[in-house]
Amino acid sequence: MESRTAKIVQDSLNSLFDDASFLPDLYKEQREKAFHSLVSILSTPNHVNKSYLRVALENGNVERIPAYRVQHNNILGPYKGGIRFHESVNEDEVVNLSSLMTLKTALHNVPFGGGKGGVVINPKEYNKKDLHSICIKYVQYFSGIIGPNKDIPAPDVGTGEREMDWMMGEFKSIHPGRDYLGSFTGKSVENGGSLGRSTSTGKGVYFTFRYMIHDFAEVQKSWLKDQNSSKANTVLNMYDQSLTLAFQGFGNVGSAAALDAYQCSKVNNKVVAVSDRNVTLYKEDGLDIPALVKFTDNNEGDLPKTKEELKEADVHAEILERDEILYLDVDALFLVALENQIHKNNMKNVKAKIIVEGANGPITNEADNYFAEQKKLVIPDILSNAGGVIVSYFEWIQGKETQFFTEDEVFRRLYKKMQHTFDHVFPAFFSNSHSLRRTCYIHSVLKLSTVLYRQGKLY
Ligand code: GLU
Repeated sequence: MESRTAKIVQDSLNSLFDDASFLPDLYKEQREKAFHSLVSILSTPNHVNKSYLRVALENGNVERIPAYRVQHNNILGPYKGGIRFHESVNEDEVVNLSSLMTLKTALHNVPFGGGKGGVVINPKEYNKKDLHSICIKYVQYFSGIIGPNKDIPAPDVGTGEREMDWMMGEFKSIHPGRDYLGSFTGKSVENGGSLGRSTSTGKGVYFTFRYMIHDFAEVQKSWLKDQNSSKANTVLNMYDQSLTLAFQGFGNVGSAAALDAYQCSKVNNKVVAVSDRNVTLYKEDGLDIPALVKFTDNNEGDLPKTKEELKEADVHAEILERDEILYLDVDALFLVALENQIHKNNMKNVKAKIIVEGANGPITNEADNYFAEQKKLVIPDILSNAGGVIVSYFEWIQGKETQFFTEDEVFRRLYKKMQHTFDHVFPAFFSNSHSLRRTCYIHSVLKLSTVLYRQGKLY
């Protein structure tokens, strides 16, 4: 059991073992046995599927492209998780991300298991026709193991609604007459997708931050004062302040989160910096996020990177080096780009008081432990970036019923579901000695254990 998620699962199970409310019906030896089966069930994926897609490219070459679909656990429902197109995709990473999905859906009470897919390509190096061929080959190779009640893929890094539409189209051709709307989520609205799905992850990221630091802290301030802990003091010192925020990553998730922060009238926070693969843009009294969103929409997703482009966007900002965003002296740093952005070589330079993980796994284990020692608050991926999979669940329900919600209804349900999770997790976090990540993992593992036990799957 090597991976990062597996290690935290093991640690969380260890903490649960000492808790009398964990498998209370079992006595000494039986309980120990159940505990060992739990560790092996949750730390090993059920299936690791790997294929070499044979794709005939438009230039006449035929490429063999490695592709994965890992199905980690389906005790709570069909496997669920995105398909990533990235040149660094590898088996360990897909396994790790699939186990994170099992824990994420369990934490938020979404009736799905955990899965993840990946294709080892840099999508920017392929034209539209070739990407279409890769997508349909992916479905052909894995068509036997995916489906609305088996395993439901969705977008992830490097994929979006265009790819999901293509994939669902191929699934439909392979399985004529079968239900197909629920075979993929994150589709375009025209093709049976849900309103609000494309911004749901980003909105959920900002909502998690706002709810924890402002709303929860405001309502619970006297209870938090009684806790008299450094965790509680961090939020008590911030909840009624106007905070400075920086967003690393201005793609689909980062831009939606930054826009929500900019537009939120409930609290008066300022987005002082955003970055992408080229630059960091900084402005002490706040950036014009709607203007930047408009610019990126018209420029293949890139932020302005020169004075001329800033002028064209009508945005005032200082242009800094791409990675400078990580070291700015801000209240909260949102990591909404890729994994492993903060590691042992740069963790000591991070000045932000709060770090929010919008991407999956942007902080390495070492950096996470270091921040825990430093008492820096880290809001983990499993908690904050679940907006996507939650709205995927709504999309799946809508597809089954062929009845569609309005966008307001989608967001009302999303916030309600996330709030339900927060109201379980935050009181536990502020009254225990664990990190917020560990608190979430314990919550997920407890839920999974209870369901496994009640289904007679722990011996
Ligand atoms: N790829 C997203 C995630 O990591 C969404 C998954 C989904 O909607 O199934 O949570």
